[in-house]
Amino acid sequence: MDEPTDKPHPDHESLLRRAFEVARRSRSRGDHPFGALLAGPDGVVLMEQCNGFTAEGHDMTAHAERLLATRASRAYGAAYLTNCTIYSSAEPCAMCAGAIYWAGIGRVVYGQTEKDLKALTGAHAENPTLDLPCRTVFAAGQRHVEVIGPLLENEAAALQADFWKEQAEPFEPAKS
Ligand SMILES: [Zn+2]
Repeated sequence: MDEPTDKPHPDHESLLRRAFEVARRSRSRGDHPFGALLAGPDGVVLMEQCNGFTAEGHDMTAHAERLLATRASRAYGAAYLTNCTIYSSAEPCAMCAGAIYWAGIGRVVYGQTEKDLKALTGAHAENPTLDLPCRTVFAAGQRHVEVIGPLLENEAAALQADFWKEQAEPFEPAKS
């Protein structure tokens, strides 16, 4: 696995592990094993968010980070969110990175890379992983979003263990 590109920070690790707890809660309640939280400038947890695929009526866009970015944008202004951090059990996909950007959240800390997640989910119908580095999305933006990750990769990957192969038949792309 790749080495983290930024030095791990104890506070980042403890808050990321709390996001892992949210992911475990998500899995135990019947949703996909992803979790995210929003921490304020002082590191206090402001919001937690499970994946919402089942809870939101099989909404394929109900990723934890997308739901959290929407909630955060409604609750706080971008001027405040620029000093906040989103901790996510897995790297935000292109959609979620876009939502984080539009909400104005200033920093992302994530566990598992999309690349590693894709190796576990494959093209699963409920999670055909969109493998684009979030740094690539943010680099196209007009305001800076700091990214720290991957971090605690093995713990992050363990959240997915056996989940996708326990699910229904994987997605078979239509052959032309
Ligand atoms: Zn996403």
